[in-house]
Amino acid sequence: MNRRDRMSLSTENLVVRYGNVTALAGITLRLEPGEMFFLLGPSGCGKSTLLRSVAGFVEEFDGEIAFAGDSLKGVPAHRRDFGMVFQNYALFPHLTVAGNVAFGLEARGAAAGDVRARVGEALGLVGLSGYEARRPGELSGGQQQRVALARALVIKPRLLLLDEPLSNLDAKLRWDMRGEIKRIHAATGITTLYVTHDQKEALSMADRMAILRDGKLEALGPPRELYLNPPTAFAAAFLGDVNELEGTLAARPSNGSPGRVRTALGEVRLSAQPSWPEGLKEGAAVRVFCRPESLWLGEAGAAPPAGHAALEQPARVASSAFLGTNTLYELALQGGAAWRCLRHEDGGAGLPDGANVTLAIRDEAWRMLA
Ligand code: ADP
Repeated sequence: MNRRDRMSLSTENLVVRYGNVTALAGITLRLEPGEMFFLLGPSGCGKSTLLRSVAGFVEEFDGEIAFAGDSLKGVPAHRRDFGMVFQNYALFPHLTVAGNVAFGLEARGAAAGDVRARVGEALGLVGLSGYEARRPGELSGGQQQRVALARALVIKPRLLLLDEPLSNLDAKLRWDMRGEIKRIHAATGITTLYVTHDQKEALSMADRMAILRDGKLEALGPPRELYLNPPTAFAAAFLGDVNELEGTLAARPSNGSPGRVRTALGEVRLSAQPSWPEGLKEGAAVRVFCRPESLWLGEAGAAPPAGHAALEQPARVASSAFLGTNTLYELALQGGAAWRCLRHEDGGAGLPDGANVTLAIRDEAWRMLA
C-alpha cells in the first residue's frame, strides 16, 4: 500500500445493478487527498448511485470501494466517518439548528461540553454563529443548506459527500454558495466528492472531474483541460456548445506544422492535441469543432484580426441574445448549419438579425471530435 492509498478514496471496477438496469458498469477512480472531485453527467448516468455506494447505502455491488487502502465492503454507513449533504438538506424540523448539528456527535457518544464546543465551531465555519436556537423552518434555503453542511462537517469526516447540494437554491444564492463551499473546503482540506448535473458548477469549482455516461467513465481531468481538450464528442457537447464541421483529413500534424482538414467552409488547420485519434489515416472522414467564444464575428467583408483565418463561406445572423457582458449570436451558415458565436461587444451596437457576416478563427481553436 503506497502513501496515497492510505489517504483517500478509490473504486476499482465498481459495478452496481438494479434488477436488469446496470447503473454503474465498471468505474475505476482514485481521489487525491484533499481534492474537490466532481461527478458530472446527465440525469440517469449513475452519479447518485456512485455517491451512495461510497456512502454505504448500496449493499450489492461488484468490484471494490476502499478508503485509506481498506475495503469498505460490509462497513455500515455510520462507521465510515463520511459526512453527507443531500439536495433536500434532510434536516430534522423539530430540532433546533444546534440540535441538528449535534446529532451525529451525540449518536457517537461525545461528551456534552465537547458537543457544544464543536457545534459552535462548525456553525462558525459555515457563517451561522448565533443561529443555534432557531428551527429549520425559521431559516432561508441557503441557511438550511449551511446547517446541513455544518452537520456533515462537525464529525470531522474523512470524506465529504455532496449530492446536488445547490439544486434547490435560486440562481444568485447558488452562486454565493459555490464560493462558500470552496471557502469551507479550503479551510478544512477535507477530500470532497461532489455530484452535480450542472456543468458550470463543476467547471467553476472542481479540482478534477469525472463525466459519467450510461454508468461508464466518459472523461476525467481538471475542468480547463476537459473543456479545452475534451476526449470525446459527448464530453465536448456536455461541457459547452460546439460548432461542428465535417471534413476529410488532408494531412496529419507533423514536425510542428498543423494538421489539415478539408471542409465545405475551406481548409481548417489543427495543431496536434491530446484528443487527436490514434491511427487516423489521411483521407479519413473526420469532424472538427470550435467553441462559440473562439469564433470571431464581423460584418461581411470586415478583415479578421491577426492570426485568424476567415471561413470561406458567408454566414447570416439568424437571431441574437444580449447577455450583458456579451452577446450570443445564432448564425445560419451556407448549407444549413446552425452555429453559435459569443461576442464581447464592449458597449457597441451589435449586429442586427439578417446581417451578413464574416466568420474567422485561430488555428489553435479547432479541435478534432473523436
Ligand atoms: P443520476 O444520479 O446520474 O441521475 P442514478 O445513479 O440515480 O443517476 O441512476 C442510474 C440508473 O439507475 C438510472 O437508470 C436509474 O433509473 C437507475 N436507478 C437508480 N436508483 C434505482 C433504484 N433504486 N432502483 C432501480 N433503478 C434505479
